[in-house]
Amino acid sequence: MSGHLRYDGQVAVVTGAGGGLGKAYATFFASRGAKVVVNDLGGSFKGEGNSTKAADVVVNEIKAAGGEAVANYDSVADGAKIIETAIKAFGRIDILINNAGILRDVSFKNMKDADWDLIMTVHVKGAYKCARAAWPYFRKQKYGRVINTASAAGLFGNFGQANYSAGKLAMVGFTETLAKEGAKYNIVCNVIAPIAASRMTETVMPPEMLENLKPDWVVPLVAVLVHKDNTSENGAIFEAGGGHIAKFRWERSSGLLLKADESYTASAIIKQWSKVNDFSNPQYPSGVNDFVGLLEESMKLGPSPQ
Ligand code: NAD
Repeated sequence: MSGHLRYDGQVAVVTGAGGGLGKAYATFFASRGAKVVVNDLGGSFKGEGNSTKAADVVVNEIKAAGGEAVANYDSVADGAKIIETAIKAFGRIDILINNAGILRDVSFKNMKDADWDLIMTVHVKGAYKCARAAWPYFRKQKYGRVINTASAAGLFGNFGQANYSAGKLAMVGFTETLAKEGAKYNIVCNVIAPIAASRMTETVMPPEMLENLKPDWVVPLVAVLVHKDNTSENGAIFEAGGGHIAKFRWERSSGLLLKADESYTASAIIKQWSKVNDFSNPQYPSGVNDFVGLLEESMKLGPSPQ
């Protein structure tokens, strides 16, 4: 698995590493020479309770296999403490895998503020706090590798997951901005939408499907993206699971360009709606300036048809 990529001399922080995907990342990096901070709050998949056991079990496994790891039991909402653990134990941080997560699935009609807030705290604030605390170290050493964790639910929406979908799509915008800000400091940030068998999915997927979705099969993609040799994939979205890897990108229809004056009316748009929907000659925008360019084109146009 993952060829012979190695991470000797590097320090990796993996949040939510007490089980599922996080455990798979942590044990992999440790087996390939990295020193690992195994963070896990140790609560339920709904974000209730806490325990030191989840992280301790993984640290013990890593040590038994000859690797180096320390446990951290803080919530990712206290990300600074997690990064501090890396600095105190190992003196640096090179790789940050923002992986911790919970679910509070409920139809939107029945969603409580607490369901919304906890998802935002763990997924959005958690990723922010960890990255924010790691950032000065990354910048100073001119090196950093970050993975944030989105979800198909964030990319497409999913019944009963308005909170989770919102939090997970937030990881995309967050990653794309960090990628742009980090580029000149050799800080590379990518976001994945994984699919894997874990306690999160064991109740919603049939056992025969889960058998083909080992967390280990998401690891190789992450291994490649956070390796020092990856300098080209930055700010990208990837799907990974069950042996499948694909890249996602935004697609914009060729679009309708109307003059922005009094002729720009609802009926003028309706008349040419097919152009709004026309993906036969798509564009693949990657920055806000692409849209500014379109606006400039619009300024140059004559009056639009009525
Ligand atoms: P999991 O429940 O096995 O692992 C998540 C871990 O995060 C748990 O060990 C949990 O204790 C820990 N955690 C939860 N809240 C925490 C907090 N506040 N601070 C620190 N640790 C905390 O689930 P998983 O499937 O391995 O999920 C890993 C990530 O992948 C999550 O972000 C999840 O949303 C995402 N994801 C998973 C799938 C999938 O198919 N499994 C699909 C899409 C996205």
